Amino acid sequence: MCGIVAYIGPREAYPVILKGLKRLEYRGYDSSGVALLNGDLNVYKKKGKVAELEEMLVGKDVHSHIGIGHTRWATHGEPNDRNAHPHISGSGKLAMIHNGIIENYAQLKQDLLRKGYTFKSDTDTEVLLNFIEDIKENNNCPLEEAVRIALKRIVGAYVIVLIDQEHPDTLITARKGSPLVIGIGKNEHFLASDASPIIEYTKEVVYVNDYELAIIKADELILKNLGNERQTPFITKLDMELAAIEKGGYEHFMLKEIFEQPQTIQDCLRGRLDANGGTITMSGVSKYAEQIMNANRIVMVACGTSWHAGLVAEYIFEELCRINVEVEYASEFRYRNPVINQGDVIIAISQSGETADTLVAIENAKSKGAIIMGVVNVVGSSIARISDTGAYTHAGPEIGVASTKAFTAQLAVLTMIALKIGYEKGTISHDRYLQLVRELDAIPEKVATVLLQADNIRKLAEKYKDATNCLYLGRGYNFPVALEGALKLKEISYIHAEGYPAAEMKHGPIALVDENLPVVFIATKDAYHEKVVSNMQEIKARKGQVIAIINEGDEFTPTLADDVIVVPEADEIVAPMLNCIPLQLLAYYIGVAKNFDVDKPRNLAKSVTVE
Ligand code: GLU
Repeated sequence: MCGIVAYIGPREAYPVILKGLKRLEYRGYDSSGVALLNGDLNVYKKKGKVAELEEMLVGKDVHSHIGIGHTRWATHGEPNDRNAHPHISGSGKLAMIHNGIIENYAQLKQDLLRKGYTFKSDTDTEVLLNFIEDIKENNNCPLEEAVRIALKRIVGAYVIVLIDQEHPDTLITARKGSPLVIGIGKNEHFLASDASPIIEYTKEVVYVNDYELAIIKADELILKNLGNERQTPFITKLDMELAAIEKGGYEHFMLKEIFEQPQTIQDCLRGRLDANGGTITMSGVSKYAEQIMNANRIVMVACGTSWHAGLVAEYIFEELCRINVEVEYASEFRYRNPVINQGDVIIAISQSGETADTLVAIENAKSKGAIIMGVVNVVGSSIARISDTGAYTHAGPEIGVASTKAFTAQLAVLTMIALKIGYEKGTISHDRYLQLVRELDAIPEKVATVLLQADNIRKLAEKYKDATNCLYLGRGYNFPVALEGALKLKEISYIHAEGYPAAEMKHGPIALVDENLPVVFIATKDAYHEKVVSNMQEIKARKGQVIAIINEGDEFTPTLADDVIVVPEADEIVAPMLNCIPLQLLAYYIGVAKNFDVDKPRNLAKSVTVE
């Protein structure tokens, strides 16, 4: 969601910023813009893709060694040229980009209007910029000081980056709640919402913390808190290669990421799961093992696909660890004054580690004495940093907006945690533990087998692409898989889809069933298999079109289904990691068949950094 790029140093700023904005396109946006300082302050912005901005700038003077660039995901004011960032202050001397929301902008705007300010856009961002300028002029103080004063009066979330025509050697930036990384080069600095625009220039980065402000010159980085005290920048080394953020011959990032799953699940297990020795090593879990084992309850807090991973984990933890688990939408949990007791364990699940609602939910829970465990993909992200402990999913950068490999990696991590805790607590037998360790170890290879069916699934996609509704049904561990399958289809193909517990379907959705409704059943062998097959009969009796995900060797289910997708057999605890793969492929191929931009589906953002 929204991308920020800025550069200061000896290079030409525009190509660095443009390339950076392209790398951040995956986050989701509706317009883009740049501001370049070269004596004049030139601002160019445009609704639409970064490529359209690039085209508009052909032949323009873009020479500069300092600049800021932005991809906007509109929150205040419709997506158009006028509302795109950067914004220019009333004096015309300051330009600013912003990611986030200024919640008290309406009041500030009224005050500024009374003072005679006028506004060229409908954004909260332009209000903040003029508020800063007003403070600067009234107090006759440096920009840095004005920013600090202004931010103390702001309610909301932000990363802002400013340039000042009168100080062409300095970038000023600050953050609260939205992500910001500073790359440190030789006499140059790169700023971005995540590391992907920075990685090809430097691996040394500083993750800016909430309520910090940086004053950045080509050869100097000064970090301060909002109390004006100097902070020591903590330099981290990026553990990421450029190839990881490129398409590598695939038509879309989503397809590449689906196909990477044998590897990413393996990466996630590597160094942790030892199938021969029968051990699971997770230092972040060991540190808090006592507290987790003795917790009265575990609360999984997440949004979207990560929430589905939490639901699968609920079944697994309750089965293996006999601990009561609740799974919460972060956006609801944070606002409803939930009961949190000292010692409750909160597991925050987030691909980006920047999901705004999840972040605030765990901050609240932490202040009430809960132990926070992060299950996060992006190393060094905000959720990872504020968690007491955790485990990275190590799926590598996920660029496709619809999450795929991050989901299976989340399942792998959560299963390992549950296994480890269950075993140490004694709620599963040694034999069962060893059996599940081996089952988990076999998953990457089985995922590779499922991927061999891509061509068949592509044909099914052709057959079902014109459906207007679709139902996904599963029971037990596969109920959340049904939810995830439906979400994928919605995201990528814009076909309305619902996931439901297969039995619950009788209490409503069955009314939708007719010969035009495709119903996807996750009907692999597990404790509920017979019951799922009965539900399938109920759909068939009403002429629904059944697509069934089944196991090898199942001869009866195909007699009820119009189409089947066969996946290898696996223990029901690990089966969701396999069963979700055909659903990812089905959504992908239907999206492609309908000519949609599957990597950047409309209205969606990758990392949802506003609430
Ligand atoms: N709230 C700002 C706007 O609507 C920034 C949105 C963003 O993060 O892209 O312009």
